[in-house]
Amino acid sequence: MIAYVDPQTCIGCTRCAELCPEIFEMQGILAMAQPGQIPGEYAARAAEAAQSCPVDAIRLINC
Ligand code: SF4
Repeated sequence: MIAYVDPQTCIGCTRCAELCPEIFEMQGILAMAQPGQIPGEYAARAAEAAQSCPVDAIRLINC
C-alpha cells in the first residue's frame, strides 16, 4: 500500500502527522506521505489517518 496526500486539498491541519508520524509529516503548511510501500506494521494507523483527514486529502493505493 502506498499513501499520497493531494496538495491541492490538504489544509495543513496536522492530524495525519499526529496519528501516524511514521508515514505522514508536515512539510511547511502541508502534509506529505513517505514515498514507497507502507510497512505492514503502520498500515492500520495510516488507514486511520486517511479516514481522519477532514478534507479527504489522503489516498491509499493498494499495489
Ligand atoms: S489530515 Fe488531511 S488536511 Fe490534515 S494535514 Fe493531513 S492530509 Fe492535510
